Amino acid sequence: MTYLPRLGLAFLFFLFQSCGEEDLQKEGASIPTAPIPKEAVTEFSGDNALQHVAAINEFGPRPAESEGYQKSLRYLEKTLKKLGWKTKRQSFPSSTPIGTVNFTNLLARHSPDREPDWLVSPPYLLGGHLDSKRYPEIIFLGANDSGSSTGVMVEVARVLSQHGDSANQVELIFFDGEEAMLKSIDPKRDGLYGSRYFAGHLKSRKNKPYAGIIIDLVGDDKVPLLIGLDSHQNLQSHARVAARSLNLQKSVINASGGIIDDHVPLINGANIPCLHLIGDFQKMPYWHTKDDTIDKLSPQALKNCGQLVLKILHQLTAG
Ligand SMILES: [Zn+2]
Repeated sequence: MTYLPRLGLAFLFFLFQSCGEEDLQKEGASIPTAPIPKEAVTEFSGDNALQHVAAINEFGPRPAESEGYQKSLRYLEKTLKKLGWKTKRQSFPSSTPIGTVNFTNLLARHSPDREPDWLVSPPYLLGGHLDSKRYPEIIFLGANDSGSSTGVMVEVARVLSQHGDSANQVELIFFDGEEAMLKSIDPKRDGLYGSRYFAGHLKSRKNKPYAGIIIDLVGDDKVPLLIGLDSHQNLQSHARVAARSLNLQKSVINASGGIIDDHVPLINGANIPCLHLIGDFQKMPYWHTKDDTIDKLSPQALKNCGQLVLKILHQLTAG
């Protein structure tokens, strides 16, 4: 992810000022759902989430097309299946600055007894990237970037699976190719491959999600978790209310602007209101280095993020 250039930021602010005061549109979905209960929030285990990060790190670096990425996909499919979730691979080639690369997003729905209707979107989307940045010259494991969000999403899946139809509120999306092939993300040319593809193909569905939550770099309790200011204002408010109620108001704070990540194509390409939650990577000296290893992660930080996400989903679905 990259801080938006000034001009881009101003433009995005204009966009969001113009739509931010509207409520989220709730129409079109036809999946039986129940509110996500508040008890779900306390059931999230940071230790469980950390175990998933450790398991994925065992597979080595996981840039798009790598053996590590394929093994991570299979781990997620197997783990989610045990929890009653069905998964679907969304594979596509894309031209990149280093040539054509084959990417694979992984989509998941809680549907223990039958194949879900993949053409009907659940009300909410929880996403994060699975790929680690391609560094041919070093062993880059990306424990925090993006093992942490992946671990949180799998543990959220476990918690939701214990609450019947409330799990139908959420589609999980593990995006491939968030990371740029070259140094930095360029939202139109390099990086965000999986989210751009997903956003472009939502048209083929009968409805869109009401809103999305994108998480990234959420495992380090020494840095704050930032609310991206290009998030939908209504969702920003939900995040602040949830943080206060969990007594996390000191560790969940506003970013200084918008930060480019997988929410950008969802907002700009598919018009889905999004919340972007990201650890303050500018305070992580190990960010995008070989030192992004599991010792930088804490169960507490993963728990803070997981509980915050569940609390926001509770507020959105019970309100
Ligand atoms: Zn990264």
